[in-house]
Amino acid sequence: MDIAVIGAGYVGLVTGVCLSDLGNQVTCIDINEEKVAMLKRGESPIYEEGLTELLQKNIQRGNLDFTTQYREGLANKRVIYIAVDTPQLEDGSANLTYINKATASIAEHLDHDAIIVTKSTVPMGTNEYIKERMESLLTHDITIKIASNPEFLRQGSAVYDTFNGDRIVIGSDDEEAMRVLTEINEGFNLPIVQTDLRSAEMIKYASNAFLATKISFINEIANLSEKTGANIQHVAKGMGMDKRIGSAFLNAGIGYGGSCFPKDTNALLSIGEQVNYSMPILKNTVYTNERQKGIIVDKMLERFDSLEGKKIAILGVAFKPNTDDMREAPSILITKRLLEEGANLRAYDPVATVNAKTILSEEIEFTTSVDEAVKGADVAVILTEWEDIKHYPLEKYKQHLSHPILFDGRNCFTVDEVKGQGVEYHSIGRPTIQ
Ligand code: NAD
Repeated sequence: MDIAVIGAGYVGLVTGVCLSDLGNQVTCIDINEEKVAMLKRGESPIYEEGLTELLQKNIQRGNLDFTTQYREGLANKRVIYIAVDTPQLEDGSANLTYINKATASIAEHLDHDAIIVTKSTVPMGTNEYIKERMESLLTHDITIKIASNPEFLRQGSAVYDTFNGDRIVIGSDDEEAMRVLTEINEGFNLPIVQTDLRSAEMIKYASNAFLATKISFINEIANLSEKTGANIQHVAKGMGMDKRIGSAFLNAGIGYGGSCFPKDTNALLSIGEQVNYSMPILKNTVYTNERQKGIIVDKMLERFDSLEGKKIAILGVAFKPNTDDMREAPSILITKRLLEEGANLRAYDPVATVNAKTILSEEIEFTTSVDEAVKGADVAVILTEWEDIKHYPLEKYKQHLSHPILFDGRNCFTVDEVKGQGVEYHSIGRPTIQ
């Protein structure tokens, strides 16, 4: 199948690369010239395991190419995926500016019938809006059909998820669009849910909102466990063994971040407001998450009289492991608050340093190893559970920190592991080890 993908970001690039790997002929179109130049050279602008290999393999076998030019990229393409960003506006609603621009560019350059597929996360009714808007802007006498195919990949395991996800959702009110999209997706050999456009759009928002709620819920239970002498690790294990609950997303920590959960929960709340329907559960999911991000700083302020002049090693800044994405990472709020309290910060992240330097304060010194960050610091704080941070031996904290005090925002160690190691250990929802 001849396919164009508009937007070569986390979703568009992974989608384009994986579709080309299935044997489709794919052209990715992006307005970012630097990104396209890198991709043409076979270099991935994002960090995702296995992506570079598949990118290079499919460029070499002639199944995948990149361009900034819509006319060239759309030529002969039967299916056109839209995977541009839909960030959050100040009022919390989804910003459709990039969707509008991509729609207008397709309408201007498309000269043959095509199926337009929206991968971007968009509010209910947006696919219909895209079709209407595009039809009003078309410069040729052609027919477009529309489908929604929301994306469920997780950053950090995006390629794996594309081939091994739980389901693929295809929404369309058009028989041919549904048939063609089903045919393309059968290549992934995953369960397919066929539905209407608006339900497909809602499935994406509802799934993210539910997962965000699960995280906020377990974080509330963690904080309450701490105050009542329970251990969240045991509580979550006991809860998760109930199949109706499931063990995924029951890891207590410093809250969710990233490019999806924060904006998608806010967008859904905003959609509710637009139709005059309040969503108190979701509203409090967002509230609890904001509170949770600050909890590690609150703990430090409780432990020390003041953080003024304290040398703090920040371990991990990406919003989660295995990604270089810093969007809405809890480290943004946490480092800001620590600096306001007068602390000196030395940070380490194995992959996100380049992005972090553009987002976090210039006052933060970045190092290239956990050792370097920890040596000479007064206290260490784990914000992202990268493998090398998770497996950094406890005795090294004892060796390198001026006072062996560790604040673990991701519960990387069990309480039993820490006992008797000579490290003062503060974590989330579990007893403190002195
Ligand atoms: P991103 O910011 O990584 O990538 C978007 C890309 O679109 C950029 O490369 C940008 O240059 C390009 N772009 C913007 N306007 C364009 C235009 N008019 N023409 C061509 N290219 C254009 O975004 P992302 O994280 O890939 O997210 C894309 C969509 O997928 C969003 O709606 C997001 O909510 C959704 N989504 C993201 C994830 C995720 O984990 N990142 C998961 C599922 C769904």
